Amino acid sequence: MKSVDVRSDGSEPQEKIQPAMAACQVADLGIDPLQCVTPQPLDPCTIVIFGASGDLTARKLIPALFNLYRNGWLPDPFRIVGCARTEMDDTEFRAKLEEQLVAGEPSVPSQWKDFASLLHYQSLDYGDINSFIKLAGYLKKLDSERQTGGNRVFYLAIPPMLYETVARHIGKAGLAGENQDGGGWSRIVVEKPFGRDLQTAVTLNRSLRESFEERQIYRIDHYLAKETVQNVLIFRFANSIFEPIWNRRYIKHVAITAAETLGVENRAGYYEEAGVLRDMFQNHMMQLLALTAMEAPPRFETEWVRDEKAKVFRALRPFPVDSIYEHLVSGQYGPGTIDGKPVPGYREEPGVQPDSLTPTFASMRVFVDNWRWQGVPFFLTSGKRLAEKLTEISIQFREIPYSIFRNVFGEEISANRLTLGIYPEEKISLTFQTKNPGAMLRLRPVTMDFRYRQSYRGPALDAYEKVLIDTIRGDQMLFWRQDAVELCWSFLSLILEKCESCGSRQQMLFPYPAGSWGPQAAIELQRP
Ligand code: NDP
Repeated sequence: MKSVDVRSDGSEPQEKIQPAMAACQVADLGIDPLQCVTPQPLDPCTIVIFGASGDLTARKLIPALFNLYRNGWLPDPFRIVGCARTEMDDTEFRAKLEEQLVAGEPSVPSQWKDFASLLHYQSLDYGDINSFIKLAGYLKKLDSERQTGGNRVFYLAIPPMLYETVARHIGKAGLAGENQDGGGWSRIVVEKPFGRDLQTAVTLNRSLRESFEERQIYRIDHYLAKETVQNVLIFRFANSIFEPIWNRRYIKHVAITAAETLGVENRAGYYEEAGVLRDMFQNHMMQLLALTAMEAPPRFETEWVRDEKAKVFRALRPFPVDSIYEHLVSGQYGPGTIDGKPVPGYREEPGVQPDSLTPTFASMRVFVDNWRWQGVPFFLTSGKRLAEKLTEISIQFREIPYSIFRNVFGEEISANRLTLGIYPEEKISLTFQTKNPGAMLRLRPVTMDFRYRQSYRGPALDAYEKVLIDTIRGDQMLFWRQDAVELCWSFLSLILEKCESCGSRQQMLFPYPAGSWGPQAAIELQRP
């Protein structure tokens, strides 16, 4: 059964759309997504990317900026300045990015040449303040030559151990101040991970705050910028029929799953240190939980939305130290099969210790202690090398209180389930019971599906594109606020301590074959 088409007016997507347009009608499916996010023209600016020779820049940031450019969604004038230790000039930098962008593509995408002319490069030594003073001079010159208005985004696409040094040097070189010398605004974007525990997150924040105000700091969680993640709040609070049943009275449990088929790939150095709890739970899983469990803010405004999320984190029931195994299952993938091909186990991956005890899978049962959610378990599960690539929020409703059909089909009537598919299937589906056609009275469970892209013909905004646009706009709604970072680390610290203590590590780690749904113990954790 297919559902729901809000409107389809047959209009063609526009070729190149100027930012700064009218306010958005949510129901208009043919609409340019940027109309919804930029009611004001974007300020001219320069984005300075530290770590410009790295993986994130090549795979995510430059493709996102290029796509924004192609759709006419970047401000004008606009400049990108890449910085890293590697010695390169502008021409080499442009050529390197072009090579990475077109790898595997038959030809260079049109408009690359125009876009490439916006790219510049400055080599620097992160530990040397003189490099940053030189960079400040370069940016000033660029501002006057290109009219970028003195507005700057500093994007830290560098290893986390460099965040503090670079932020401090940006400040010392006078680049963090706003509205000085006729300049404009200054913002700093910090990639994940934000610390590796509560203490390091507090220390990192203290270093950032030496030079930047909280309103200038953008702590990224690109998951939050996915369309379907943003849709959770629209679904909950722009429809009246779901909110009355969104509570312990009607909901039996909630399962939030982020499963990957990929292994650790080429990021073993990072992953060996992080493991699944730091990589997925401290950030993405907690955000999905907050969006599902939070109360409606009085208005859809940045601080009010972030306040409501923080309240969810504050209400998380601390894990019981003595019975932690009853609430958490962690695992590590062994050899197995993905898409019919054999794949190695985690310990055989390049860069991984042969006796590594890093968890690549975790499933935990958490409770939100408030009136709405008392007693409702939230099962959070994430892992690498699982059977399917899948991120979803599944709301399992309670069974009917009493069946008038028990003399016909017995007591068993499966309860309704609502699934918010985040990725790769961007959808909302609701399962419910119907009568099977025919003379006999028999049940037929059916699913009503809404595909997120259904009837939408406009261009899509990828998560990194949204993150970059929001930073340029100065909208922090989809970024972490420090209090929420600290609340989540506080909640996870106990679990991490226990998992990483010598006696517990081996004991708590269940092996699972690549291509499965994780350890059997995790499936049992979710049994009533
Ligand atoms: P890389 O390992 O590719 O490093 C980025 C750049 O930093 C390198 O090109 C290198 O440039 C410089 N660098 C590396 N090691 C050192 C070092 N020891 N000292 C000084 N400079 C060094 O990182 P990624 O691009 O993968 O990631 C950047 C940040 O983004 C990290 O914090 C990561 O956690 C985060 N992130 C990355 C994701 C990804 O998909 N890659 C996803 C989510 C977050 P040079 O030698 O030229 O100075």
